[in-house]
Amino acid sequence: MAEQAERYVTDEATSKRMSAIRPLETTPEVAVRRFLTALKYRYRLNRYDLPGRPDIVFPGRRKVLFVHGCYWHRHAGCFRTTTPIRNVEMWRKKFQTTVERDLRNVRLLTEQGWQSFVIWECQIRTLEALRHQLEAFLNGEDGHDADTQ
Ligand SMILES: [Zn+2]
Repeated sequence: MAEQAERYVTDEATSKRMSAIRPLETTPEVAVRRFLTALKYRYRLNRYDLPGRPDIVFPGRRKVLFVHGCYWHRHAGCFRTTTPIRNVEMWRKKFQTTVERDLRNVRLLTEQGWQSFVIWECQIRTLEALRHQLEAFLNGEDGHDADTQ
C-alpha cells in the first residue's frame, strides 16, 4: 500500500467527500446484505464484541465481512484512493493509522478463530463478479486472507 503512487485531490474534492460520509449503515453495506440474502446466506450485523466491529458476521462459519470505503481504508491501486493536496503529512498519518488498525483487527480476529474478507466500496456495483470469491470464502474450510486483490 505504501508503494502505490499517490493521487492528489483539491480541497474542494476533499470537502465534497467528507460531506458524503454517512454514519453506520452505509449504502454499500446494504447492497452487500441484499446480495447475500439473494444468495440465501444468513448473517448478523455489526457484532460489537468482535475486533473492528465487522459489518457482517456469519457466526456458524466463524467468518466475517468488512465493507470498506476505498478512500479511508486505502484500497491499494484504486482510483478512489486519493490524497488531499494540502496537509499531505497529516493525511498520510491519518490513513496510516486506519490501515494499521484494519490489519490489527484482522490479526486479532484470526487469533480468535475468525476468518475475514474485505469487500471494497468500488466493488459494490459489480458484486456479481465477486460472487465466486465470496462463495469460496463462505463455503470453504480455509478461507483466504482479508485482502481481495
Ligand atoms: Zn476501491
